[in-house]
Amino acid sequence: MTPYIAHMRDRIVSMVLIILTLALFAGGACHASDLALIGAKIYPSPTEPPIENGSILVHEGQIVAIGPVSAIKIPPGATVIDCKGLAVTAGFWNSHVHILPPGLLRARDSTAAELDAQLDTMFNRWGFTTVFDIASVLDNTLTLRRRIESGELRGPRILTVGEPIWTIEPVYVRDYLRDNNIHIPDTESSVQAIALVRDHAAKGADGIKLFTGSAQAGGKVAALPLDVAKAAVEEAHRHGMPVFTHPQNLEGVEIAIDSGVDILAHTVPDSPPWTPEFVARLKSANIALIPTLTLFDFVARGSQGTNQERDAWVDKMVAELAAYSKAGGEVLFGTDIGYTDHFDTMLEFTLMARAGMTYRQILASLTTNPARRFKSSGHSGRIANGMDADLVVLGADPANDVTAFSNVHYVIRSGKLVFHAR
Ligand SMILES: [Zn+2]
Repeated sequence: MTPYIAHMRDRIVSMVLIILTLALFAGGACHASDLALIGAKIYPSPTEPPIENGSILVHEGQIVAIGPVSAIKIPPGATVIDCKGLAVTAGFWNSHVHILPPGLLRARDSTAAELDAQLDTMFNRWGFTTVFDIASVLDNTLTLRRRIESGELRGPRILTVGEPIWTIEPVYVRDYLRDNNIHIPDTESSVQAIALVRDHAAKGADGIKLFTGSAQAGGKVAALPLDVAKAAVEEAHRHGMPVFTHPQNLEGVEIAIDSGVDILAHTVPDSPPWTPEFVARLKSANIALIPTLTLFDFVARGSQGTNQERDAWVDKMVAELAAYSKAGGEVLFGTDIGYTDHFDTMLEFTLMARAGMTYRQILASLTTNPARRFKSSGHSGRIANGMDADLVVLGADPANDVTAFSNVHYVIRSGKLVFHAR
């Protein structure tokens, strides 16, 4: 081979390589999964200033660019969503749900269309891209999660505690569990509690739920013995799992504090008003609070009381949230849907605002607080490069009125459009 021919051969090889590289880049840039949201008011996080006229670029399930419209180049072939007049936040977390409604109970045998319809109604259309299921049938919930993660279903990322730990089931779920053939055993000893935690950890559960107080007939409450609670919490923490509790009354909260529980799943109906000293104890125990104010309104509407009695009861829980939030306690948004069918989130935002929470604090309860608490801050809770492309597009600006958080126009989960208001 003459030097000239060798030289030409090398040139041709490098030209082919350059063309191949360009083609690969071009292919990447025009990937079908590219999505661009343009012209929105963007809230990157609860603490950063909003971008007034911004764009977000999504590629293969991740955010790859965020900034003013003029600074973001939209690749040809990207799906563009015009967000003029709309506001965008990171995808919402609901930290108190149940995968228990009849429409989700047969996750293996139901059709995709049946499950999608239920997931849309409960989660997708309200902007929930991650939910923490805090009591359900573990095997069924894991099946549902697999079908969502495979791309077969439209739904949120599901974290789950599976079956809870209680000495005896609460009176208000007894009929439902029996009618749906759900058997959740009573936990009577530390040995049993530890066995349940190990079983759940091995199967892929993400947390543990206790009923440190379980409501019984006639206003009685069955407390979980402190040694059982302690054993469960210790074993859960050994597996890196957070522990939720349903407290029900003051004794249930005291057991939670003494056993090292991480999250109160509700404000507390049967407790005296929360004093600064009590709030300080909860805070120093590093306990997060899920208010579930809509639940108490829902329960009160189902009882015999007058409107005045109902309002007074809900106001008591609003006051507990106000005391905790004003003291700087951590609040996680949660509504107990799946136990209730009150899926609309507007009332919860209204009541959270009544407790004195600002739109930034409410946004934190929906995004950065749960992401941090559940060790997901590296990929969830903020709009930034490299984060999961979980996004909620709102029809109005929550800075003007917090009920805008329930005015959901588009929802994107892992870069896919899962809801579009029509
Ligand atoms: Zn619940």
